[in-house]
Amino acid sequence: MNAMSTVSPVQQEAGIVDRIRALESQYLLQNYARYPLVLQRGKGCYVSDVSGKRYLDFIAGIGVNALGYAHPRMVKVIREQAGLLLHTSNLYYHEYQGPLAERLAKISGLARTFFCNSGTEAMEGAMKMMRSHGRKVHPEKYEIVSLHNSFHGRTLGALSITGQEKYRKDFEPLLPGAKFVPANDLVALEQVVNERTSGIVIEWIQGEGGIFPMSDEYARKARELADRYDALLVFDEIQCGVGRVGKYFAYQLTDPVVLPDIMVAAKPVGCGIPLGVIVANERAAQTIGSAMHGSTFGGGPLACRVGLEFLDILEGLLPQIERTGAYFRMKLEELQRHFSFIREVRGRGLMIGVDLAISGKQIVLDAMEQGLLINCTHDTVLRFLPPYIVTEKEIDRAVRILKKVLKAAAKRDTAS
Ligand SMILES: *Cc1c(COP(=O)(O)O)cnc(C)c1O
Repeated sequence: MNAMSTVSPVQQEAGIVDRIRALESQYLLQNYARYPLVLQRGKGCYVSDVSGKRYLDFIAGIGVNALGYAHPRMVKVIREQAGLLLHTSNLYYHEYQGPLAERLAKISGLARTFFCNSGTEAMEGAMKMMRSHGRKVHPEKYEIVSLHNSFHGRTLGALSITGQEKYRKDFEPLLPGAKFVPANDLVALEQVVNERTSGIVIEWIQGEGGIFPMSDEYARKARELADRYDALLVFDEIQCGVGRVGKYFAYQLTDPVVLPDIMVAAKPVGCGIPLGVIVANERAAQTIGSAMHGSTFGGGPLACRVGLEFLDILEGLLPQIERTGAYFRMKLEELQRHFSFIREVRGRGLMIGVDLAISGKQIVLDAMEQGLLINCTHDTVLRFLPPYIVTEKEIDRAVRILKKVLKAAAKRDTAS
């Protein structure tokens, strides 16, 4: 301690950051390109690093921290459940799977749930359901149709139907039978779906792909083709679902609602506790019989209790999400009038992308420096996934910071 006393607090923190980075660079697989920020604690929409610097968090764990940080009701149930029962396996019942599944059925318009631990794992299960469905009809009915630019996860199965070369190329050959079509192209979809199709998989709003919503006509066409060829329609709501757009699920924005046969969700459901769900109608649920699928951790008492508590809170938040989302988009459209390199503002609710004619990388770093966390997807799309509890005041603050860093970007742009 004495030796440390000659070191200033700022130097100490620099020391912590350097030590953590050195350990990770020596001992971790080098798959992540992290920002040089060591986060320590959070409250509401703000998170602090080890030096105590606060950041307004508008990426919020990539859409996971729906209630921000340290929400009092979450802290309470997690504390309580940790002292009672964390894990049971699926050999026995506990009090929370049934009620959470009932709740999911009511809000989704579907019937039965399988619980797992991540988005990818939910998609993987949905793929087994499509395969099993197809096999019952014909051994050759195993094709899965998905979209260019989609993202469905990183296991070999989910990767096989992810329509982005950069994620796939190092792992080929992947599963046979994956067919890709451009989004919102009704003719292309009609041409590729046939008797060999076991399922059609769609993100209602593409997230990693750059915040691209589907049209209502496209959702209707997908439903019609799935019915015509006895295929399962699967909506990947992992990023756009569970409140993100001001409805429980993004497909509920379609008017009239187009129901999928299977819906997968994850990111915000457990508010940071790993929890993924497959929710299916009765027909799709019949594809998984006794012992055909399972998970050791899936649907544990802690995760399910947290999920139930979250859905309880979410009910009251939905109108607010629609309102703050519209407010945020309006403010971003105002910025668009100031900066010619903003091509488009896209999205619904609190899932928003700002498409730029320039790279977004430096803008993300500058925003971080100014105390705002955002992210950039597809090189040029600034992505915003703020907590559902975000206020108009916090949005104003984020927009002020953005305006400042966009001004700097405009200067760089004209200088180059
Ligand atoms: C994040 C995401 C996944 C993968 O979820 P993980 O929890 O990272 O496995 C799949 N689909 C979509 C649309 C996603 O945004």
